[in-house]
Amino acid sequence: MPDVYNWQLGRKMTYRFPERHSRWQFAAVFNINRCIACQTCTMACKSTWTHARGQEYMWWNNVESKPYGGYPHFWDVKTLELLEQANPGGQTWTLAGRDGRRAPYGVYGGKTIFEAAPRGQDYVGYLPTDDEWRAPNLYEDTSTAYPTRPGRYHPTGETLPQHRTWFFYLQRICNHCTYPACLAACPRNAIYKRPEDGIVLIDQRRCRGYRQCVEACPYKKPMFNAFTRVAEKCIACYPRIEGRDPLHPGVPIEARCMAACVGKIRLQGLVRVDADGTWVEDRYHPLYFLVHVARVALPLYPQFGTQPNVYYIPPRWVPRPYLRQMFGPGVDEAIAAYVAPSRELLAVLQLFRTTKRMIFRYRITPGRKVFETTIDGKPWAMYNDTIVGFDRAGREVVRVTVEEPVFVRPRQHLNTI
Ligand code: SF4
Ligand code: SF4
Repeated sequence: MPDVYNWQLGRKMTYRFPERHSRWQFAAVFNINRCIACQTCTMACKSTWTHARGQEYMWWNNVESKPYGGYPHFWDVKTLELLEQANPGGQTWTLAGRDGRRAPYGVYGGKTIFEAAPRGQDYVGYLPTDDEWRAPNLYEDTSTAYPTRPGRYHPTGETLPQHRTWFFYLQRICNHCTYPACLAACPRNAIYKRPEDGIVLIDQRRCRGYRQCVEACPYKKPMFNAFTRVAEKCIACYPRIEGRDPLHPGVPIEARCMAACVGKIRLQGLVRVDADGTWVEDRYHPLYFLVHVARVALPLYPQFGTQPNVYYIPPRWVPRPYLRQMFGPGVDEAIAAYVAPSRELLAVLQLFRTTKRMIFRYRITPGRKVFETTIDGKPWAMYNDTIVGFDRAGREVVRVTVEEPVFVRPRQHLNTI
């Protein structure tokens, strides 16, 4: 198999096809700390794309409670076990060799799902059973160290930075991976990655329902339609990305799950990609800033090797070993950046869910100091800066301040909307 460069692993890896990249890439950052598991994203997707016959069990967007929840059940534990069996004790990282955009998390010394493949196969994976697709939100709100008696939690209480009793919500969509396992697995070459935006699609006319994409995808995001006998998956709401939404003609806007998010946890956009698959330096693009400058957002299970394009700000109260396994060795740096955000990071975090239009660049205008305190013994100050977001054509699409304005209802409207 050819060698390709995977910057999330800081090294080359084997993949079925030679290196070739889209010019732009669909990407997003999800802030786990803010999610309230309202499932508005899930329903926005469901009501748009998967309400037909054969799609009853399909949740292209789902939100699961970790550590026990998952759809299909235990999808990540099962793939981690397959990798461990293929390379016992060897799934490790080294921080030596950390290098800017090309190896921001150091170098992964273990095996990916492509490298752990048995002889004669392109990947290691598994096909979930029907039972595992049964309940999309099993173990909702179930923590570890669950109280044995009602009202009893861990005796030392729950204080930051790491709780003894914990769970968190993980928001999941197809990652529109740079090296999609679904695409590599398809014997019909029915899966393709679009050169203009990196969105991964299944050609329904070519698909014969072999389900090898379902078996190969470590995130289990392709789903088989037993009625049409072909596989389906998240299409990244591509008509909206292309500017074909009737309400916003000609303007790229965010996918439905992003635009509907009540908790303001999601920011989606398009990033420019270099010939080696790394992101072109774009200092004032909000996604580039969050991933490569602030380094507060991390890929989900980068060790799987598909170079996923959805990034997560990890939850700050969860035990670090669990998070390091899930998001790689950048976790400690990311949480430190989030807990005491720089002036610029705090401003960029205000952009989440302020507009449906994709933001391609931001500018910050300094404001006055409004608050000061100490965090972990160090002085920290908050400034009421103004952040302005611009669309692809350089037009202003949003303007917000760090301090949210307070609106007081006039007396005669106290009880109305
Ligand atoms: S998440 Fe799975 S279905 Fe989506 S592009 Fe990656 S490998 Fe394919
Ligand atoms: S809409 Fe937003 S806050 Fe609600 S579950 Fe989805 S990601 Fe979480």
